[in-house]
Amino acid sequence: MKVGIPRGLLFYRFYALWKTFLEELGAEVVVSPPTNKVIIQQGLTYAVEEICFPAKVFLGHVLYLKDRVDLLFIPRLVSFHKREYNCPKILSLPDLVRNLFGVEEERIIGDEINMREEGIRGWRRGFLNIGKHFTTKESKIMKALEQAEKAHRDYQNNLKKGMLPENLIDHKAPLLPREKKIVLLGHTYLLSDSYINMNITKKVNDLNYSVITPDMVEETKKRYYLSTISKPSFWTISNEIIGTALYYLKEKKPEVRGFIHLVSFECGPDSLVGELIERLLKREERSLPYLRLEIDEHTGEAGLITRLEAFVDMMEWRYSHLESHVSSSTSS
Ligand code: SF4
Repeated sequence: MKVGIPRGLLFYRFYALWKTFLEELGAEVVVSPPTNKVIIQQGLTYAVEEICFPAKVFLGHVLYLKDRVDLLFIPRLVSFHKREYNCPKILSLPDLVRNLFGVEEERIIGDEINMREEGIRGWRRGFLNIGKHFTTKESKIMKALEQAEKAHRDYQNNLKKGMLPENLIDHKAPLLPREKKIVLLGHTYLLSDSYINMNITKKVNDLNYSVITPDMVEETKKRYYLSTISKPSFWTISNEIIGTALYYLKEKKPEVRGFIHLVSFECGPDSLVGELIERLLKREERSLPYLRLEIDEHTGEAGLITRLEAFVDMMEWRYSHLESHVSSSTSS
């Protein structure tokens, strides 16, 4: 049976887990190709105006797969962290696809995964229900989940070592290691889709910097720093972004020179997180430069390059100015 996984939104986070789980259950997995102009145009044509750009791109991927596979894999990911939620746009994806494209309910694997109240029990129940689309044997489903979780851990460990999803999924060559680093904040689906972000990681690398993304930071560190603020967000991914920003803000690692925050223009959670990070930065005595870049269907590559170059110039000026100030104060 052919099962299609749209290459968008949480795909970049759960690629190894989903693929392994479905293959262990005997499915032939078909992933839509990397985002391109046609996929974006299809998404924009069919999507309702109100939804964010990454969700529109996701719909373009669904449209690519819709008539090429037997089933579409679009689980309802309500929560993958206790006491937190995912954004409502992510929760509603199976309904959106059903209503916009008229896909029959039985052709969508849209079972709920919800760790909000019950943690790991909610996770396992979700995968058990998904597995029942392929077999009635619970032991086989649980074995498949075990394999999938192992693949997921390996995938995450490789990201922690500095790999990007494109290195692991499409086997693209890793970027060159650089001494100076920029923390690239944002949702994995903005940071990992090099077509919609206009290859920002490569552009930063060409400017002589390596990027650090939230995927590269240990969960315990992100959560520790998140616990130092009085009111974290409801949304898991927003919390991971805040935790990452705080970690690098407080640890003051000399190789880290600034933050670039990629946000989606229509995203409610992103606007709140951006505002919060800017406030946290302003409170620091020795802060780091921050650039917020909004991405949507109208963002032009030339404008992005100009802003990146100007930011890097400013960051370098600030760093050398601060360094000479620090060394002259120490020597006096
Ligand atoms: S968090 Fe923002 S970018 Fe992500 S799906 Fe929700 S609205 Fe879209």
